[in-house]
Amino acid sequence: MRILFWLFCALTCSGILLGESIHVVAKNETLGGIARKYGLSTATLQTFNGISNPDLLFLGKKLKIPSGALAQIPYVVRKGDSLGAIASRFGTKTSDLIKANGISRPDLIKVGQKITIPGKNAPKATTILPASVTKALNSIKTTSKWKRIVIHHSATPVDDAMNMHRVHKARGMKNGLAYHFVISNGSRKASDGEIFIGTRWKGQLQGGHMKQASLNQTSIGICLIGNFELRAPTSKQLQSLEGLCKHLMKACRITHRDVTTHKILHRNHTKCPGKYFSLSSFLPRIKS
Ligand SMILES: [Zn+2]
Repeated sequence: MRILFWLFCALTCSGILLGESIHVVAKNETLGGIARKYGLSTATLQTFNGISNPDLLFLGKKLKIPSGALAQIPYVVRKGDSLGAIASRFGTKTSDLIKANGISRPDLIKVGQKITIPGKNAPKATTILPASVTKALNSIKTTSKWKRIVIHHSATPVDDAMNMHRVHKARGMKNGLAYHFVISNGSRKASDGEIFIGTRWKGQLQGGHMKQASLNQTSIGICLIGNFELRAPTSKQLQSLEGLCKHLMKACRITHRDVTTHKILHRNHTKCPGKYFSLSSFLPRIKS
């Protein structure tokens, strides 16, 4: 009975609306204090209520409280903002901001850009590979030789896996396509983010994507089509790369510490996969 009374009181006194409730500012309350009370960040509460100056909070003001921290809060990027700074202000993670907004260049956010801040309990953006790709990957029995994943770009803005296969064969590689996987940018014959599984992966053959033989024997090569010295990979390519890496990490017992790039392993030989592919922004997406 007491619980029912409390519930009745809570519902009527706080004036619950659809998906949000109202808090009436009492004497000596601060925005930060109210935010803490509801398990929210000050910035969340401020933005949700369109408050420009949190110090001018008057007695009796009605504040909207997003329910269960589930709210997706719209935010407009301001001068001096970085994704990391926005994330910490709203008590979320940079990687969740990147995922929620499909951002491919976290270092290039613009003043005035509209983004969404995911709530603490908001469903995480999941990357699910197409069922056909998962089925194809699962049908391949992996060997224990794979120690790392190496990410490359094709350095060609327009390309497709079969063309690369022909080019590599013409270069004298008897197994053709040097990589185990190619992720299209939609420029030719395949759609944006489409994963091509090469014959080297199907046959669990060593790659031809590294200079050193020992690295070729133990490294899974994934090539994203595009020249990332000129532009960033597409968000669909990054989604597919994320899904593919997660699958391979599980299947081959590789941790995110062993997901790397061509230039990290061959520092003086190559710029691959280009300055616009950011490994440090990508890694949080595959950390479990
Ligand atoms: Zn490379």
